[in-house]
Amino acid sequence: MGAPEAFTATATVGHFIQGHATPGASGRSQPIYNPATGRVARQVALANASDVGVAVAAAQAAFPKWADTPPLRRARVLFKFLELMNQQRDTLAAMITAEHGKVFTDAQGEVTRGIEIIEFACGIPQLLKGDYTEQVSTGIDNWTLRQPLGVVAGVTPFNFPCMVPCWMFPVAIAAGNTFVLKPSPLDPSPSLLMAELFKQAGLPDGVFNVVQGDKVAVDALLEHPDVRAISFVGSTPVAHHIAQEAARLGKRVQALGGAKNHMVVMPDADLDQVIDALIGSAFGSAGERCMAISVAVLVGDVADKIMPRLIERTQQLKTKNGMELDAEMGPIVTAAARERISSMIAAGVEQGAKLLVDGRSQAVPGHDGGFWLGGTLFDHVTPGMRIYQDEIFGPVLSCVRVPDFTAALDLVNAHAFGNGVACFTRDGHVAREFARRVQVGMVGINVPIPVPMAWHGFGGWKASLFGDMHAYGEEGVRFYTKQKSVMQRWPESTPKGAEFVMPTAK
Ligand code: NAD
Repeated sequence: MGAPEAFTATATVGHFIQGHATPGASGRSQPIYNPATGRVARQVALANASDVGVAVAAAQAAFPKWADTPPLRRARVLFKFLELMNQQRDTLAAMITAEHGKVFTDAQGEVTRGIEIIEFACGIPQLLKGDYTEQVSTGIDNWTLRQPLGVVAGVTPFNFPCMVPCWMFPVAIAAGNTFVLKPSPLDPSPSLLMAELFKQAGLPDGVFNVVQGDKVAVDALLEHPDVRAISFVGSTPVAHHIAQEAARLGKRVQALGGAKNHMVVMPDADLDQVIDALIGSAFGSAGERCMAISVAVLVGDVADKIMPRLIERTQQLKTKNGMELDAEMGPIVTAAARERISSMIAAGVEQGAKLLVDGRSQAVPGHDGGFWLGGTLFDHVTPGMRIYQDEIFGPVLSCVRVPDFTAALDLVNAHAFGNGVACFTRDGHVAREFARRVQVGMVGINVPIPVPMAWHGFGGWKASLFGDMHAYGEEGVRFYTKQKSVMQRWPESTPKGAEFVMPTAK
């Protein structure tokens, strides 16, 4: 692959409402940084309640016709959108690297995982097929069908500006809803390009709208009476708040929160594979993934065997501008996030964890202003420490030593978060017991980052998800539709008279 073309636009990123880009009326904006240079690259508009009102009104007006469009015709628009997304894969990836900082090849992978959800949503005619019971009672048939909700909204985090929106809007729109997306203001450009591509694919105006913004826009979406459901992905405190508010206001909600993903390493595991898995899953995307491994649970003598190589590999990480094709780790998303992660590292040292590799002095030649933080490795971390309990969301791997499998499982199960987890072993019985007994929503056996494929659905347990249904997959289709049950009888013309007893099968 040759050098990818960098994304260098300078224009203000605005909203996309009723099929058109618009700056909105709020007059508010905030800077967007290129995290690799630390410089302001462009501005993003921040919507106020009236901008949100315009977007919801556009979506509400578009809903009846779109809901009435046969699923096959909706799918054809999605097929065209899929084609355009594939054509623009590298443009989207370069946008992600320019605003988020992750390395270009990783950004390409993110776009691909988003595209896979569109592929899934193209199957909507099959996914919406209902159930039918002929002769549920004499002369009566009963069937169930699923109908769209109306206007639904999505609020998404900075760390996957293409993939996480794709968890939501393609499925919701395929199911016949209209959509308002509120992306993270840190990296809003991919959302706007996706809206333009969907319009080019033939999506009617108003079906997919994007409002850029912050809490003001989110509150306006929550409070708007025409918004029927909210999908949220972000940190746990905000997810909890969204879930509570949506419930109070009578809206359907799925709110996916933060994580602290453990990888349990049994003494019989292939230790070469383990080291590769730990380095990739802890430091890929600078640890800014909700499925990143942030805790290694090293059972028995594993720690003594792998620690020297883990130190060496952490020190050797190639941290540089993500547009350089040999980069393994890019910068942190903002200066504030880098400060927060650095203060967590200091807290780990203060509380007695052994700091083996310290990324705080990381420098990248020619990129002095970038938000750099190198890979950081702690050993002898214990459950009482803040670096164990709290989500750090940065390139920091904490190693905890435990004596046996039971202690490892108890440790994972006692943690407040339950997003992802992995177990590395060669023992099928241990693997099976682990998968059955672990209190976590997504489990990997010798797979460090078990992000489910498009048709399986994504969701954690405990403080990692508020609501009943996971994102995308069949759970996603269920979330964006409501079930209706129809009973029919075509009586013969002889009148039978009124019936006053509860009808039962005859
Ligand atoms: P965040 O919670 O700060 O922001 C998420 C979204 O909520 C953004 O659109 C933001 O503008 C909005 N927001 C922020 N504060 C708000 C408030 N007080 N009221 C209403 N809306 C608000 O999260 P982030 O920093 O963008 O993303 C990182 C977090 O997301 C991490 O905690 C990570 O684990 C989590 N995450 C979870 C998953 C998952 O599937 N469980 C996936 C990706 C990221």
